[in-house]
Amino acid sequence: MRILITGGAGFIGSHLADAYLAAGHEVAVLDNLVSGKLENLSQSLVRFFEVDIADREGVRQAFADFKPDVVNHHAAQMSVKVSTDRPVYDAQNNVIGLINVLEAAVEHGVKKVIFASSGGTVYGDAEWIPTPEYAPLQPMSPYGITKMVGEHYLRYFQRMFGLNFTVFRYGNVYGPRQDPHGEAGVVAIFAKRLISGQSPLIHWDGEQRKDYVHVKDVVRANVIALTEGSGRAYNIGSGVATSVNELFDGLERQLATGIAPTYGPKREGDVRLSYLDIGRACVELGWQPKITLDEGMVDTVAFFRQQVEAEKVMTK
Ligand code: NAD
Repeated sequence: MRILITGGAGFIGSHLADAYLAAGHEVAVLDNLVSGKLENLSQSLVRFFEVDIADREGVRQAFADFKPDVVNHHAAQMSVKVSTDRPVYDAQNNVIGLINVLEAAVEHGVKKVIFASSGGTVYGDAEWIPTPEYAPLQPMSPYGITKMVGEHYLRYFQRMFGLNFTVFRYGNVYGPRQDPHGEAGVVAIFAKRLISGQSPLIHWDGEQRKDYVHVKDVVRANVIALTEGSGRAYNIGSGVATSVNELFDGLERQLATGIAPTYGPKREGDVRLSYLDIGRACVELGWQPKITLDEGMVDTVAFFRQQVEAEKVMTK
């Protein structure tokens, strides 16, 4: 298959590119490099298009050049904080950008779009825990709103133009290549701080629990979605709730730095317990998360060790 990955220079998208290439597909990436990195791109890519999804003509041109069979749409403004500070910018990326991609997909006969939505934000402060896909969507941030709206656009494009899709609502994804400066990547932030000899800051008492899923498990779902899951939305998480204190302890088990965390005030909007019901993906896609947190910490820690070492060499 010819697969175009938007956001393919980023954390999750670059792992998708590696997996699709390993499975023998022809892969191109479209990314404006706002947070993605050229060093994440595989040499085996057919093409790299440095294009902003908000640029309608640029997107159309890339589709005309590459002629994808499948589009895996991971490009997005993905910070909740940026979305509340700059809702117009957020919507330009996550709504207008998505529409540009969907219009180009219809124009160029794409068979399927896979869309990265967000299980951590579309349900808002969910009443049902673990939260199933049929729980009410009541996002509380512009970012969550754009992801919910994106899902509606996919359904509209399917109804009007027959464009097939699968939606994945991810929990908190972690693993190598995650940006340790972002707000979502608590594992990346803690790992980098501990390896650099600094104490990680834990908000509240650290007993707030969320759903953390390793990027390799996320990638497996995206491989399955090339042929399965038509017209459906799936939660992709670990299906268990892990506290921030447990995350810290897991990293310390790997690193044994002896550094204690620093505790700070609760952040606005932090919830006590949230995790995803992953039953639908297990039953319909035959997908299951396979990587435990302790296993998942190994390659994550190795990656950040290497990154910190490389930074030390560069500053010498
Ligand atoms: P990331 O920032 O590493 O990747 C996003 C990529 O999209 C980057 O390479 C960036 O340069 C690119 N991009 C951003 N805006 C663009 C634009 N306007 N035009 C072209 N390219 C653009 O983030 P990630 O964690 O890999 O997230 C990928 C997707 O998964 C996003 O859609 C995000 O909302 C979604 N998601 C991530 C998580 C998570 O825990 N990481 C959870 C839920 C959903």
